[in-house]
Amino acid sequence: MPVGSSRKGRRQRHRAAVAAHTRAQQRARAAGCTTIIEAIESVGPCSGAWATNAFPGNSWHQWGLAEDDYWLVDGEAIWSSRKLVNGLNGYKVWSEEAAKHGLRSLGAMGDWPHVQGPAESSPSRLYSLAQIDAAMRKRFGG
Ligand SMILES: [Zn+2]
Repeated sequence: MPVGSSRKGRRQRHRAAVAAHTRAQQRARAAGCTTIIEAIESVGPCSGAWATNAFPGNSWHQWGLAEDDYWLVDGEAIWSSRKLVNGLNGYKVWSEEAAKHGLRSLGAMGDWPHVQGPAESSPSRLYSLAQIDAAMRKRFGG
């Protein structure tokens, strides 16, 4: 079994993600980012299946600039990056078409459903926490 998929590896990654979020939450609180903090506190402690690694405001989805898609074959939603239909995989085609139109697919990173407008991986590469907080407040209120 690869180290990355072992139970110990998952626990280590989970602990690292929680620690990173705790540090980011502390920075957001210190910077007075009330919308980000309110988003975290309104959700409360979470358990269950993984949903995202993104801190509030740090995903292009939250900016309306990314989407996760499936491909449709005979009315069936396909979420596979391996399935071939007529020798083609919908995600591979989708990724190539996205690039032609100036969009960024994260397929090469294993996130085949994801396509976004900005080239940067996260809004945090372009904006400060305070700027992200203001953008989220403008977008979602608070
Ligand atoms: Zn996505």
